[in-house]
Amino acid sequence: MNRIGEGYDIHRLQPGGPLRLGCADVPADVEAIGHSDGDALAHAVCDALMGAVGAGDIGQHFPAGDARWRGADSRVFLAEAVRLAAEAGYELINIDATIGLEKPKLAEHRESIRAALAEALGCDLDRVSVKAKTGEGLGPVGEGEAVEARAVVLLSQQNRGSQRGPRGER
Ligand code: MG
Repeated sequence: MNRIGEGYDIHRLQPGGPLRLGCADVPADVEAIGHSDGDALAHAVCDALMGAVGAGDIGQHFPAGDARWRGADSRVFLAEAVRLAAEAGYELINIDATIGLEKPKLAEHRESIRAALAEALGCDLDRVSVKAKTGEGLGPVGEGEAVEARAVVLLSQQNRGSQRGPRGER
């Protein structure tokens, strides 16, 4: 059995940099405002993974009002999302994501973002796709006020023989 999940996130931008996307630091003269590291791509992927197994969303697992997650590295959130999926008996088949950002242009950074995201997820590079679009000057993305990300994931039920119980027994 397969399951799909989708996730979306948006963060307001402010002058600064670098811009954290998919656990990569992209050279930029803007940075995302957020309670954690403001990584819209990582957060969208987390929500997609959690959504695929019906495990709520990132705000439920890591409340923005909780001081523990102030400035938190989103690798922590991704690791938990992967753990929740594995606990439910699912493994990642692939992720496809799209970033919306007016500038900087992400074409030359796309592969480093993809590699950092795959590393944070602990999966092979070929299971992760990252695309980027500008907002064509329209709306909060186009006007350079925000970065957004969308992600879809496909999970597959793990072979029952490889599932482990709560104490690691098969
Ligand atoms: Mg977020």
